[in-house]
Amino acid sequence: MSKMAELYPVNETFLSWQGEGVHLGRKAFFIRLQGCPVKCPWCDSASTWHPQYIPKDIRKASAEELAREAKANQPEFVVITGGEPCVYDLTSLLKACSAVGLPVHLETCGAYPIADGFAWVTVSPKWAKPPLPDSLIRANEIKLIVESPDSMKKWTSAVGGHWHAPNVWLHPEWSQRSESTVLNSITEWVKSHGAPYRAGWQVHKPYFADSLDTGSRPPAPLGGDAMKGF
Ligand code: SF4
Repeated sequence: MSKMAELYPVNETFLSWQGEGVHLGRKAFFIRLQGCPVKCPWCDSASTWHPQYIPKDIRKASAEELAREAKANQPEFVVITGGEPCVYDLTSLLKACSAVGLPVHLETCGAYPIADGFAWVTVSPKWAKPPLPDSLIRANEIKLIVESPDSMKKWTSAVGGHWHAPNVWLHPEWSQRSESTVLNSITEWVKSHGAPYRAGWQVHKPYFADSLDTGSRPPAPLGGDAMKGF
């Protein structure tokens, strides 16, 4: 993002609770930025990048406007997510949130440099654009999307058998959430390895916690259609 523009493209903002990871269940204000060059086949935020689902009205908002909106909702913290938020310069948004006393959490694939100043960083690495080594070191938690029974083995091998983060969540890719081979592979991995691995789930989804807020957009289709590129 150009520092001259000082405007962020916003897919949606909404008040909800954090549905994943260490901060599960805590009141949070979400800022979902538009745009992602990674294009995972099962993306559940396809409206941030897929030509078929990009909203016609992408809001442009300043850091101060977003911080004021967040503050008015009185969350425990702000979550900047996407899309892939780290394709933008997030410095002014971090400063604006800090000025109104709100800690900021980040959700990123880790493939782009992470700005200083986040209170919490969740890195969810993606094969289409693997994470930078520095992102894996900075991460407070890792979220691995388990799309097949061999996902953990592949990722662990890719990082040299070692994670820096104290929490490595294993989440079934959402379209596979009832697939027993995927779920059992998570259970077996945690039973055989223990820490830092933890079995995870996207708890906000069965609650419809995000979509209950009027600020959120209807979710784009999920499940992957290779012909359409998602
Ligand atoms: S990195 Fe995230 S937002 Fe981007 S395509 Fe993959 S799942 Fe979707």
